[in-house]
Amino acid sequence: MNREELIASKKRIVVKIGSSSLVHPETGDMDLVKMERLVRILADISNSGKDVVLVSSGAIAVGRQTMNITEKPKEKSVKQACAAIGQTRLMMVYQRLFAEYNKVPAQVLITKLTMIHDENRRNARATFSELLNLGVIPIVNENDTVVTDEIEFGDNDTLSAIVAALIHADLLILLSDIDGLYTDDPRINPDAQFIKEIDYITDELEAMAKGPGTDVGSGGMATKIAAARIANDAGADMIICNTGDMRNLRRVLEGQEVGTIFKAHKNENFHLIDYLTKEH
Ligand code: GLU
Repeated sequence: MNREELIASKKRIVVKIGSSSLVHPETGDMDLVKMERLVRILADISNSGKDVVLVSSGAIAVGRQTMNITEKPKEKSVKQACAAIGQTRLMMVYQRLFAEYNKVPAQVLITKLTMIHDENRRNARATFSELLNLGVIPIVNENDTVVTDEIEFGDNDTLSAIVAALIHADLLILLSDIDGLYTDDPRINPDAQFIKEIDYITDELEAMAKGPGTDVGSGGMATKIAAARIANDAGADMIICNTGDMRNLRRVLEGQEVGTIFKAHKNENFHLIDYLTKEH
């Protein structure tokens, strides 16, 4: 199956956008043009009859900006307060943008505890299913205001893969400020080679991953590879694409060979609960 056929066959798509892709790096203010383009594309996926879920970071970044907190906060309570402030702002903007296209978004805040607890997890899955049946676009984030250090996803790359596994999505798209996977960090090594397709995640590949490159958000390449492991085991392909230009998302959805694709290989032994309760 070529990329075009592969993408056309997808029925349930999770799209994750990171904090650094939602704000202007120069000011930290929301990049409204980018958000508008994202929302338009998501509304269109929904119009084409596919299910779509957005996992959006940005609560802490937007809260920081709102309160003029210029340094990345170290104290948990400050981060959690920023998340509470930023989350409502973000949702307000998403709500307005989706309304332009006659689409209804819904907020779903998740913690690792919610996912571990059998009944909560089943409830969450049933709620997603109901929302998607209603044609609503769920917008997911970690419930940052209540999580503790011991039990948090910490980054939305992992969270988005967990959501993809939970709702049996067949495609996860991570929108990032990097084109995809390189053999080395391209910001440091100009000879770094771009990798278009990964069939299996090897230990060597994991070693290539480097830490986060910006001071907003918490995901680097390592968390993206961890996300790919979950998504691929759960039976979803995962694509990383650079949303410096949001048209790349459109290109991915048209089946163009943009970004790095990590190919699904459903592992019958993969159980979400085992992954969640394992030490990482
Ligand atoms: N949940 C965090 C927020 O909304 C973001 C986590 C991440 O950057 O991946 O601010």
